[in-house]
Order: sequence, then C-alpha cells, then structure tokens
Amino acid sequence: MHLKKLEIQGFKSFPEYTLIEFDKGMTAIVGPNGSGKSNVTDAIRWVLGEQSVKTLRGSKMEDVIFNGTQSRRAMNFAEVSMTIDNSDGILPIEFYEVQITRRLYRSGESEYQINHVNCRMKDILQLFMDTGLGKDGYSIIGQGRVDDILSTKSEDRRKVLEEASGIVKFKTRKEEAERKLNSAEQNLVRINDILEELNNQIGPLSEQAEKAKKYHQYYDEWKKDDIAVILHMIDRNKVFLDGSAEERASLKKAIEEQENLVLKIRSENRELTERSAQLEEEIENTRQERSDITEQIHEINSQMLLLKERHDQLLLRIKSAEGSDDEQAQEIERLDNDIAGING
Ligand code: ATP
Repeated sequence: MHLKKLEIQGFKSFPEYTLIEFDKGMTAIVGPNGSGKSNVTDAIRWVLGEQSVKTLRGSKMEDVIFNGTQSRRAMNFAEVSMTIDNSDGILPIEFYEVQITRRLYRSGESEYQINHVNCRMKDILQLFMDTGLGKDGYSIIGQGRVDDILSTKSEDRRKVLEEASGIVKFKTRKEEAERKLNSAEQNLVRINDILEELNNQIGPLSEQAEKAKKYHQYYDEWKKDDIAVILHMIDRNKVFLDGSAEERASLKKAIEEQENLVLKIRSENRELTERSAQLEEEIENTRQERSDITEQIHEINSQMLLLKERHDQLLLRIKSAEGSDDEQAQEIERLDNDIAGING
C-alpha cells in the first residue's frame, strides 16, 4: 500500500487546488513555523474520517474550511482527496487504486466518496481499519504522538501496538458485540420484568379470555339463529309474494271478465234503447193510425146514420107513394150500393 497523492482545496490554509504527490521513497515538506505543514497531516486525518475538532486543532468542524485572509475571500467548502496504490490488496476492496474524498460545506452538509461513489463515513473507517493508516493509525505520528509511543504508560503504548498488530478490527467487533450483548442483557431484564407483570395479569386475563370465549360462542349462536330467522322470513315473504301474484292474476282475469261483461251489457243496453225508441215510434204511429181509423169510423158511422136516415125517409116516401116510379127504385138501388160500398 502506497500513498500516491493528496489533493486539497479550500481546506484550512489551502484555498487553491493543491496537489501533493508522494513518490517512492521519502517526501519531506519543509517550511517555517505556521506555514501550514501540520495542515497537510490534518487533511490526511480529516479525509480518513477524523471527527474530533480538537485533534484537528479547531473549535468546530467548520474551522477546517478556509476562512479567508485580508487579500482573499473565504471558501464555502473544503475538499480533500487521497489516492492510494492498492496493488498489494491490503485495502479490502477490488481496486488497484483507491481514492477517498471528503467534502464539507459551510451549511454543515458533508459527503464521503470511495472512487467517486458516495458512501458513509463508516465505510471509509472500515476500509482502513487495521491497515495502520486509519485516523488513529500509527502511520500518522504528529507532534506529541511520539511521546505516546515512548510513554511509560502501558495504555498509551497499547493503542499504537494494537493498531500495528491488526487487532483493532477484532477489538472493535468485540466492543460492538459486547455493546450488543449488554443491550440484549438489558432487553432480557426488561422482558423478564414484562413476563413477571404478565404472569400477574394471567389470572384476571384468563377469566376475561374465558368470558370473551363465551361471548364469541354466544355471538356465533346468535348469529346462526339470526341468519336462520332472516332466511325463514325471506322464504315466507317469497311464498306470500308468490301467492299474491296468483291472486293478482286471478283478480285481473275476473276484472277483465267483468269489464267485458260491462261492455257487453252496455252494447245490449244501447241496442235495447234503440229498439225501445223504434218501438215507441211504432206505437206512436200505430196510435196515430188508430186515432185516424177511429175518426174515419166516426165519420162513416155518421154518414151511415145520415144515409140510413135518408134511406128511412126514402122508404117512407116510397111507402107513401106506393107504386113509386123506376127513378125512385133506381135511386134506392144506388143508395143501397153506396151503403154496401161503405161497409165493405
Ligand atoms: P508549526 O510549525 O507551528 O506547527 P505549521 O507549519 O505546522 O506550524 P500549521 O499549524 O499547519 O503550520 O498552520 C497554521 C496556519 O494555518 C496558520 O497560519 C493558520 O492561520 C492557518 N490556518 C489554519 N486554519 C485556517 C483556516 N480555516 N483558514 C485559513 N487559514 C488557516
């Protein structure tokens, strides 16, 4: 594994894009105090995921962004990229060259990338774990860190040696496992408490459960009965509806028959009325004829009376003339014929 280059822009005292290439062998950066040499190692720490503002020699994370000078405006973001030759495969990733990038904006938004693909800070920390290049790795020995290595305090030396021996990864996993175990233990205690609480509730709950069971049983029975009642009512209504349909049909038929009868009677009535009018007319005619005939009979009777009178008178005259002439006899005969004609 070989650190190939470092690209810095907007980080601390590097407002311009700055490229530092590390050839094989040793690279030394020389400069007067305060010229920004330590800012280079800060940039390496920062891109490796350093979160401690104290380690980065600031009071807040925003302090890593170039904050301007008298002659230059402040930057809005800081960006550092580090490129590593991974042809020996020490970094657990399928690339011969690995570039990691960290970007921070004044808004507080930050980005991490591995080979230009966005990732989490955790991914970068895991990538360098136990390689010696992690943010806490022994590869970066800043001012004061030499003291840790030479320290008589075993704790300080241990941190450096643990990283060097590659057990940090397992230690971290162990710590994580311990944390999980602790939290599982706490959960277990809580579950036991809950179990105890539930045990206390079992008595009343089983009573309630029994009641609920009975309720469901009764409810199911009631539902069955209710459905049976509804079905029965439906059947009954159906029968009633069928029956009334038959009744309706026969009533309709009867009404039709009655209507036909009424029509027939009306027609007969009309005929009878017409016939009655005819008969009345005929009766009137007959009455008139009878009256005419009666009148004629009266007239004939009166003529007959008159002729009889005249006949009687003539007979009297004949008797009195005794031996009346032929004219008189013919007159008598003519009168007799007239009478006969009127009677006939
Ligand atoms: P020393 O030899 O004293 O350790 P050095 O060369 O390592 O010094 P650094 O401490 O890396 O120098 O750099 C300090 C310089 O960086 C200071 O001049 C400081 O003003 C500048 N600096 C730090 N942070 C910023 C920032 N956010 N914006 C602009 N300049 C900054």
